[in-house]
Amino acid sequence: MLRLPAELEKNIRTDGETAYPNESCGVLIGEVDNAGVKTVKRTLSIDNAREDGEQYHRFLITPEEMLRAEQTARAMKLDVIGFYHSHPDHPSAPSGYDKDHALPFYSYVIVSVDGGKAQILTSWELADDRSDFVQENINIEGVQK
Ligand SMILES: [Zn+2]
Repeated sequence: MLRLPAELEKNIRTDGETAYPNESCGVLIGEVDNAGVKTVKRTLSIDNAREDGEQYHRFLITPEEMLRAEQTARAMKLDVIGFYHSHPDHPSAPSGYDKDHALPFYSYVIVSVDGGKAQILTSWELADDRSDFVQENINIEGVQK
């Protein structure tokens, strides 16, 4: 399970809308308890490192950006617990590319952005044997309606 404060969920949605029609991407910083429940404490937006024309559906975080994210997390006594990216005009289901580039443990949050408007947000985890992506429950916290 992924616990995601409402204001951080909003950050992920806004990022996706800002990057549209390209993909947004970023890092989830937080902590994991003994039961394996992840809590997001901060989102870190990453500039999409792909060349123009390849930004659609090919998000990439460079090793330098990953290192900076790890350092930011450590300074807060937290860990990098996952990543997020947007799917412009596509459902929020992982692509084959997403699966091929995923690592176990991390949560992969995907938000669909239809016509510039953020829609459905899902989270995925790689199965321990890496055979498939499994959808993870997201608990949005502090939502006021
Ligand atoms: Zn994707």
